[in-house]
Amino acid sequence: MSTNLNSNPTDAGPNAIEFDGVSKVYGDGTEAVSDVSFAVPRGETATIVGPSGCGKTTTMKMINALIEPTAGDLRVTGRSVSDLDPIELRRNIGYVIQDIGLFNHMTVGENVGIVPDILGWDDDRIDDRVGELLELVRLPDGVRTKYPPGLSGGQQQRVGVARALAAEPDVILMDEPFGALDPITRKELQDEFLRIQEGLDVTIVFVTHDIDEALKMGDRVAVMRDGELVQYDPPIELLRNPADEFVASFLGEDLELKLLGTVTVGEVMGSVDDGRDTRSGGSTLSPADDLRTAVQTWLREETDEIPVVEDGAVVGRLSMQHLRHVLGELPNALEGNHA
Ligand code: ADP
Repeated sequence: MSTNLNSNPTDAGPNAIEFDGVSKVYGDGTEAVSDVSFAVPRGETATIVGPSGCGKTTTMKMINALIEPTAGDLRVTGRSVSDLDPIELRRNIGYVIQDIGLFNHMTVGENVGIVPDILGWDDDRIDDRVGELLELVRLPDGVRTKYPPGLSGGQQQRVGVARALAAEPDVILMDEPFGALDPITRKELQDEFLRIQEGLDVTIVFVTHDIDEALKMGDRVAVMRDGELVQYDPPIELLRNPADEFVASFLGEDLELKLLGTVTVGEVMGSVDDGRDTRSGGSTLSPADDLRTAVQTWLREETDEIPVVEDGAVVGRLSMQHLRHVLGELPNALEGNHA
């Protein structure tokens, strides 16, 4: 039995999620979301960012029908959420939240396999899927029989990600998923998640109050203020043309560094087989590292060229030239924003 909401995704058009004039007024009269319209193309990640209380969580929870809109239409894979059975809908939508919500009395394996189990998959299939997912999120197979309280915060969050992916949902919702982690573990999980997501055909909506995280994780970034969607654009567009003073001030300082934080080494590195030697020893980068990390590595090194290594093999090289090229794409872009 297929769990996909739409058995023929091409009929659903290019967008996995469509907000069409959606509003939410709570029972006490609070207008949490006002006339919001945006679409998330299939396979892309949209981040929703803005100050506390601006309506991010309300917007996200309308997607899996935890909150019902009071106006407008909201479609998931082409179908109005209001026409769908909420339980069915949620089985097709993975959900990762800050405090994880793992069941402490169940093993890691049982936690990851919970949705497939509800869907009636047979035990062997669940077993295989759990093994595959633990490998994907880079947890040792030994954790399968452990209980969540025996794991570190970062490991628990990896289990949360594996669980959200278990039944191959079309959509994953992530609400401040890495917010409770220390900065190093957080960055590790962000990078890891970007790597995982690349190989999957899944649409992600990711809520954060952290603009750096929003720019890094999102193919498109939705900036909200007081329930309104102020701007919805790819990170580079946001940095180039902030819609208004609010967005500009929310982006803050150091726009060049923020830009570098949105580009990975893998996207811009040079190839290794162009006849040039890569040096041995010293620091290396991984394709998943962002260019901000690359700059920090340069500052420590005496060299202009750094090998890019994946699974023990040199897969590319990164030079100052690549970095300049990225910044050079923004000739006038950032000039106006340094007021
Ligand atoms: P964010 O996720 O950006 O912090 P929320 O979506 O949680 O924002 O909240 C948006 C607004 O709606 C806030 O003013 C908040 O106080 C209000 N709000 C959230 N949930 C409820 C509720 N259940 N009843 C009334 N007001 C709510």
